Amino acid sequence: MSIKQNLQDIKASLPEHVTLVAVSKTKPINDLMEAYEAGQRVFGENKIQEMAQKYDVMPKDVEWHMIGHVQRNKVKYIASFVSLIHGVDNLKLLQEINKQAQKHDRVIDCLLQIKIASEDSKFGMSPEDASTLLQSERLQELKNIRVTGLMGMATFTDDMNQIENEFSYLKETFDTLQQFSTFNCQLSTLSMGMSGDYQLAIDCGSTMVRVGSSIFGARNYN
Ligand SMILES: *Cc1c(COP(=O)(O)O)cnc(C)c1O
Repeated sequence: MSIKQNLQDIKASLPEHVTLVAVSKTKPINDLMEAYEAGQRVFGENKIQEMAQKYDVMPKDVEWHMIGHVQRNKVKYIASFVSLIHGVDNLKLLQEINKQAQKHDRVIDCLLQIKIASEDSKFGMSPEDASTLLQSERLQELKNIRVTGLMGMATFTDDMNQIENEFSYLKETFDTLQQFSTFNCQLSTLSMGMSGDYQLAIDCGSTMVRVGSSIFGARNYN
């Protein structure tokens, strides 16, 4: 199946309020352009350098989402153009994003990553730590970032019951934290769901799905 056909099929299955992030990590520009020509404008990458290189050559109306873990010292490479950073899990990183955004006279939208998986390897904050961060005075000082939602990744498992429990937990956290609303914090985006589980994620309240292999085919990391 072609990238264009895959995209059309997935888009047709999404409710209108759900944003599709086409996860293009490891894929060549030709593949991204095929998706672009089929109308896709939101792309997700998980490596800073790869995203910066693709930004340079792709049309300028693409919205670039950083979906991977971000090291503080690399924020500067994407600060001029990134439109949403999904994986923010501490205040220091938010402060650095704010500092770099300020240099470009921009406001960068961020999602707080919540740890919902049972595996140790996944990044993310506890709901309690996210709650503390959202109420901290330090957050109020950051005029060049906006916290617009939450992101989470379920455990890598075939057990759909477990995945559903993890998504529901993230949705409850999202609903609870929505009360903390300030000038630079309004939680409206819930980023959860990938190729294998995005339909379930939408049933559980997702408003943004990050889909890679179902659009572009399996990735080859060699
Ligand atoms: C790679 C990746 C995806 C997409 O995964 P697929 O299973 O290929 O859809 C989604 N989210 C994150 C954070 C990723 O790193």
